[in-house]
Amino acid sequence: MATGKINVSVENIFPLIKKFLYSDHEIFLRELISNATDATLKLKHLTRLGEAKVEYGNPQIEVRINKDNNTLHIIDQGIGMTKEEVEKYINEVAFSGAEEFLEKYKDSAKDSGIIGHFGLGFYSAFMVANKVEILTKSYKDAPAAHWICEGTTEFTLEDAEKKEHGTEVILHINEEDKEFLEEHRIEQLLTKYNKFMPIPIKFGTREETLPLPEDAAEDAKPETKTADNIINNPEPAWTKQPTDLKEEDYKNFYRELYPMQFEDPLFHIHLNVDYPFNLTGILYFPRMSKDMNIQKDKIQLYQNQVFVTDNVEGIVPEFLTMLRGVIDSPDIPLNVSRSYLQADGAVKKISSYITRKVADKLKSLFNENREDFEKKWDDIKIVIEYGMLTEEKFFDKAEKFALFPTTDKKYYTFEELETAIKENHTDKDGKLVILYASNEDEQHSYIQAAKDKGYTVLMLDSPIVSHLLQKLESSKENISFVRVDSDHVDNLIKKDEEKISKLSDEEKEKLKADLEKVIPSEKYTIQLEAMDSHEAPLIITQPEFMRRMKEMQQTGGGGMFGMGNMPEMYNLVVNTNHELISNILNTKTEKKQQRLIKQSLDLARLSQNLLKGEELTAFIKRSFEMVK
Ligand code: ADP
Repeated sequence: MATGKINVSVENIFPLIKKFLYSDHEIFLRELISNATDATLKLKHLTRLGEAKVEYGNPQIEVRINKDNNTLHIIDQGIGMTKEEVEKYINEVAFSGAEEFLEKYKDSAKDSGIIGHFGLGFYSAFMVANKVEILTKSYKDAPAAHWICEGTTEFTLEDAEKKEHGTEVILHINEEDKEFLEEHRIEQLLTKYNKFMPIPIKFGTREETLPLPEDAAEDAKPETKTADNIINNPEPAWTKQPTDLKEEDYKNFYRELYPMQFEDPLFHIHLNVDYPFNLTGILYFPRMSKDMNIQKDKIQLYQNQVFVTDNVEGIVPEFLTMLRGVIDSPDIPLNVSRSYLQADGAVKKISSYITRKVADKLKSLFNENREDFEKKWDDIKIVIEYGMLTEEKFFDKAEKFALFPTTDKKYYTFEELETAIKENHTDKDGKLVILYASNEDEQHSYIQAAKDKGYTVLMLDSPIVSHLLQKLESSKENISFVRVDSDHVDNLIKKDEEKISKLSDEEKEKLKADLEKVIPSEKYTIQLEAMDSHEAPLIITQPEFMRRMKEMQQTGGGGMFGMGNMPEMYNLVVNTNHELISNILNTKTEKKQQRLIKQSLDLARLSQNLLKGEELTAFIKRSFEMVK
């Protein structure tokens, strides 16, 4: 028997491994299965080249728990190692790899997240085991080897009995890591990290029910058969060519990825590049809820079919993190911090490639079946609008497919919209004024008034719409968006129209003074307008600028500093041609006049849903008094 001392400068590496990597203990299994997979794929390669004279067959990787001995076994049928190779690869390569890793990540390792992404490799076994054995036989004609190490720099290495080529790694699990001897825990880990690895992974067995023969008696019980419990799907959809997949395959894969999702995705995007970087994957557009924060089924990142993380921030542009699916790339550096990742040139390229692919897909969906695209618009608009807001390149591309629906459910691209409304919506200064509403019920009377005037009203109700309008206004010439309730309909699009007022200038002045005695000036700005006598006498509006800035504050960023805390300010539009207004002006007793003004103001507030609580109670009481 040979014994030896591993030659390292860090005197005792094992306590370090435990200390620094505590939070990510579970990754040891992923690392060992990755090694087993590599060893198997290497053998496949060598047999193909004719260099290995063994049968490749249908190799598996097996994970086995032995509770009696407190051991966990990872067994592969790969290339195996000769004694000399164990010396070299395990004692030297693996060890120096681990040492280098620890040196480099001693400090940052404490910020969890990095470790899990970095292949610490074989030595991660010592995070959960106090003793590790390797029983291995090379595909070459050489005796098998048995290596034992008890978590110190001492090891033993001797010849062993093992007939088949391949490697068995035996972990003697620590007392405090007993969870890794529990079946459900191991199954959970295998499902998390190895669900799509390329070599079948067996973990125990399961009972399979066989179908009944056709002539079976009515009370016949189906037979069962014991079969290997294979954890993974070695050929997940993203590794195949899009031409080999049907719509159904994509949907099935979605279910495989997110077993708890019962709704089908709206559509998918198959990613596939090999130059200048390697990346495959499938992204799905799910039906989007309005709430942008609820997000539990996220995009998963893989490296050569090994799960790495479901935090793809920095790799996928932010607006696309709302999507689902997988990305697999060996070219994403994972051993670095997020901020570094965002500055990395290769990662930037990946991110812009994904953006472009998504934009292209949306464009082709739009071109191929516009009707269907319009139907899906409500469910996908939030992603598109968010993308337009945050990614300049996407904004440019979205020109071709971003839709602007009207309150009559007509869907225009911006260009189509311009053409359709140009004539009617251009104001006296030649500016195109685009009217919109954000709530069909709350703004009903305003929408109606605008429509009666022959205007087109858009229905824009995403939470980020105010930001998007701001962006559109600044990137296009001579347009402005105005919400229908931001002014009286005649003022929304200012035209050169002569307005005839029933009231003289003196009368107007007196009216204004009378109104100001009752109406609080810190809340309402009085605006006298000579409107049609059939129109409402008083209308409350909120100026576009003010409201939009407040909204932008509320949805974060963009808005003007402090606007979110500004008090609510309204315009009170007074129709000087209405009979009621003349009545108010001509009422002689001050008390009666004030009561009329108060009542009229409350009615205007009521129609805007602004009258509440005590004031509403008082209003109702007063109204009953008046009609009795
Ligand atoms: P890495 O896999 O990153 O090279 P590891 O520390 O995990 O680093 O492993 C070191 C080396 O040990 C591997 O490169 C490989 O040559 C060898 N090795 C590890 N596990 C196995 C295995 N199951 N079968 C054959 N060789 C293995």
